[in-house]
Amino acid sequence: MLFGRKTKNPIQIANKNIVEWKYTTCGYCSTGCSIEVGLNAQGEAVGSRGVGSADVNRGKLCLKGIFEHELFKLQGRGTTPLIRDKYFEPFKETAWDPALDKVASEIQRIQATYGRDSFAIVSTGQIMTEEFYTLGKLARGVIGTNNYDGNTTLCMASAASGYKRSFGSDGPPGCYDDFEHTECLLAIGSNLPEQHPIIFWRLKQALEKRKFPVIVVDPRVTMFAQMADIHLPITPGTDLALLNSLAHVILEEGLADKAYIEKFTSGYDGFYDVVKHYDPITASRICGIDEDTIRNVARVYAKAGAAMTIWTMGINQSTHGSDGVCAINNLNLITGNIGKPGGTSLSITGQCNAMGTREWSSCSGLPGYRYLENEKDRNDIASFWGIDPEFFPKQRGLFQTDIFPAIETGQIKGLWVIATNPMSSMSNTARIRKTLEKLEFLVVQDAYQDVETNEYAHVYLPAAVWAEKEGCFTNTERRVNLIRNVIKPHANAKADLWIFNQLAKRFAQGNKIKFPETASGVFDELRQLSKGRMLDYSGMTHEKIEQQRGIQWPCTDGAETGTQRLYADGKYQHRDGKAKLMPLPFIDNNERPDEEYPFWLNSGRVVEHFHTRTRTGKVGNLNKFSPTAYMEMNPDAAQPLGITHGSYVRLTSRRGDAVVMVQLTQRVAPNMVFIPFHFHECVNRLTLGLLDPHSRQPAYKQCSVSIQAVDDQAAAALRNKALRAF
Ligand code: SF4
Repeated sequence: MLFGRKTKNPIQIANKNIVEWKYTTCGYCSTGCSIEVGLNAQGEAVGSRGVGSADVNRGKLCLKGIFEHELFKLQGRGTTPLIRDKYFEPFKETAWDPALDKVASEIQRIQATYGRDSFAIVSTGQIMTEEFYTLGKLARGVIGTNNYDGNTTLCMASAASGYKRSFGSDGPPGCYDDFEHTECLLAIGSNLPEQHPIIFWRLKQALEKRKFPVIVVDPRVTMFAQMADIHLPITPGTDLALLNSLAHVILEEGLADKAYIEKFTSGYDGFYDVVKHYDPITASRICGIDEDTIRNVARVYAKAGAAMTIWTMGINQSTHGSDGVCAINNLNLITGNIGKPGGTSLSITGQCNAMGTREWSSCSGLPGYRYLENEKDRNDIASFWGIDPEFFPKQRGLFQTDIFPAIETGQIKGLWVIATNPMSSMSNTARIRKTLEKLEFLVVQDAYQDVETNEYAHVYLPAAVWAEKEGCFTNTERRVNLIRNVIKPHANAKADLWIFNQLAKRFAQGNKIKFPETASGVFDELRQLSKGRMLDYSGMTHEKIEQQRGIQWPCTDGAETGTQRLYADGKYQHRDGKAKLMPLPFIDNNERPDEEYPFWLNSGRVVEHFHTRTRTGKVGNLNKFSPTAYMEMNPDAAQPLGITHGSYVRLTSRRGDAVVMVQLTQRVAPNMVFIPFHFHECVNRLTLGLLDPHSRQPAYKQCSVSIQAVDDQAAAALRNKALRAF
């Protein structure tokens, strides 16, 4: 009997008078959940639900997906283009033509005065693949700047770089179905339940059917670490020493798959020459994991019939992020765990279309995993677009993280920022503010005009958001999925594809190249350009993608569906067809705690928020769970400093300071604190962000800080906006 009642009250779902459901794919994280958006009789988006027949999420959605239909009407949406001469003057409203004319003429002026590469473009992982390809065509084939990159450099660049170095190409080899087959899961620097809740649910489903060991490597006792069979609380920034040591034990104890190494890999001798120095005793002194645990984990992993590794930013955002990815690949190559069910190196990507930008945006080269450094690739794309191949540079230009220092030193004078927010997302906020102030011209294209970077813009272009337009995203497991146009763009906002096409018309070279007006027209070009390549899209159409609820590439022309795993035949993309075992010495070059700054500072995502909260900070049912910046701190460390639960502290690093509320918890070690990275004027006022030499990705996860208690009044004064502008 329930509270005096004999029967349960049936669950009532609020009737929102939905008359039609439209198919889309979630626009937040890279899990790639299929969502239907419900429209009422007035055509307003009033509900979201998971799609039961979609293999990725099987009807489930996380908190962000459940409220995704609210995005269309959030506060701060841009309604019309804005323009001003100086960034500190008020914006004036304008129409699209004068705004686009101004952008084109400023690009032309800056390039004519200072050279083609003096105008830079920084894009995102959020727009659609067709839009990425069109932007790449505009940047590489029309504007002709070589300083063009995306914010995926802050997120997935180390994974892409590591895949290229090990396997000869980018592209995650595995898929979610690998959870169903694996006999051991190693997760490094990935708090799956909070970052990618539906992938975590897929893992839990697999574990309910069949138990296998789950090993989580993370300095913090994350939600994932709490459910692991073995948790390795590693010293920050030392994952490479641990991974080398696991390989050491596997080789020394004869647990490696010698036949696989012999047949499918190269570089063994050089690799062994480095790994032999990482015996567990030596490694334990570096990474803080005891020698017996290292041996045990190595044996469990190597003896499993199939074992897989997943990782996220704990590996990527490091001064040796690319090496860390190669070390994971080394581990899986020496145990024969690539391309087989349950055996893989699967980077869990970040943004909804981080993969789409890697495949098609031309940021790191040319579309379809082609390289500027390769003459044939330059010729192929030039002939497809109908331009002179000599228009292309012969090697890629600056990464996003090098574009900002180049503004500082005067090489870059103009910048176009698309759907990203460097004022919050880049390390060392004070330095980025000064950098943006130096620009002669900044154009910000975003769905939200209150995005912090817009404070420094000369022109603002209001973009349509998510399902206000049509196109594809590629998820973590290479699955291309479709977003149907659910409602028309807000006010006078326009689809990014339309904006790129209109801008192209304002350049002489843009009128020589064909720019299809519809997403499906652009998709046809992707099909043609990918035919016969590893990322073959030629067997897909928008209709077929919707029908199958996403298709994994490669999907060859005429094939019924896509391909679950890459490299199943052991043939890799390096010239010799083999995977490379990489020698990876660990170099300890990052900031570490000392007497002046005695705490490690770690950062990461929380489940309610996405990136810089441009969207989730305004969705009431998300923001209420995590409305203000906070810091996890161990009670044993807090007590001698007079810090109590719920009080405020001021953290100081060599770059700046931040004020946060304290949450006392045993989740962090006494010498470490954790702050979610989503909040403006917060953790990135403190971070150093040293760069990885291969991927140029910043090491957000590792720096040192001091902490002092402040009372509520002082905290409020320190968080004053004007004061924080310095
Ligand atoms: S798990 Fe990611 S893709 Fe799925 S609903 Fe949540 S935010 Fe969207």
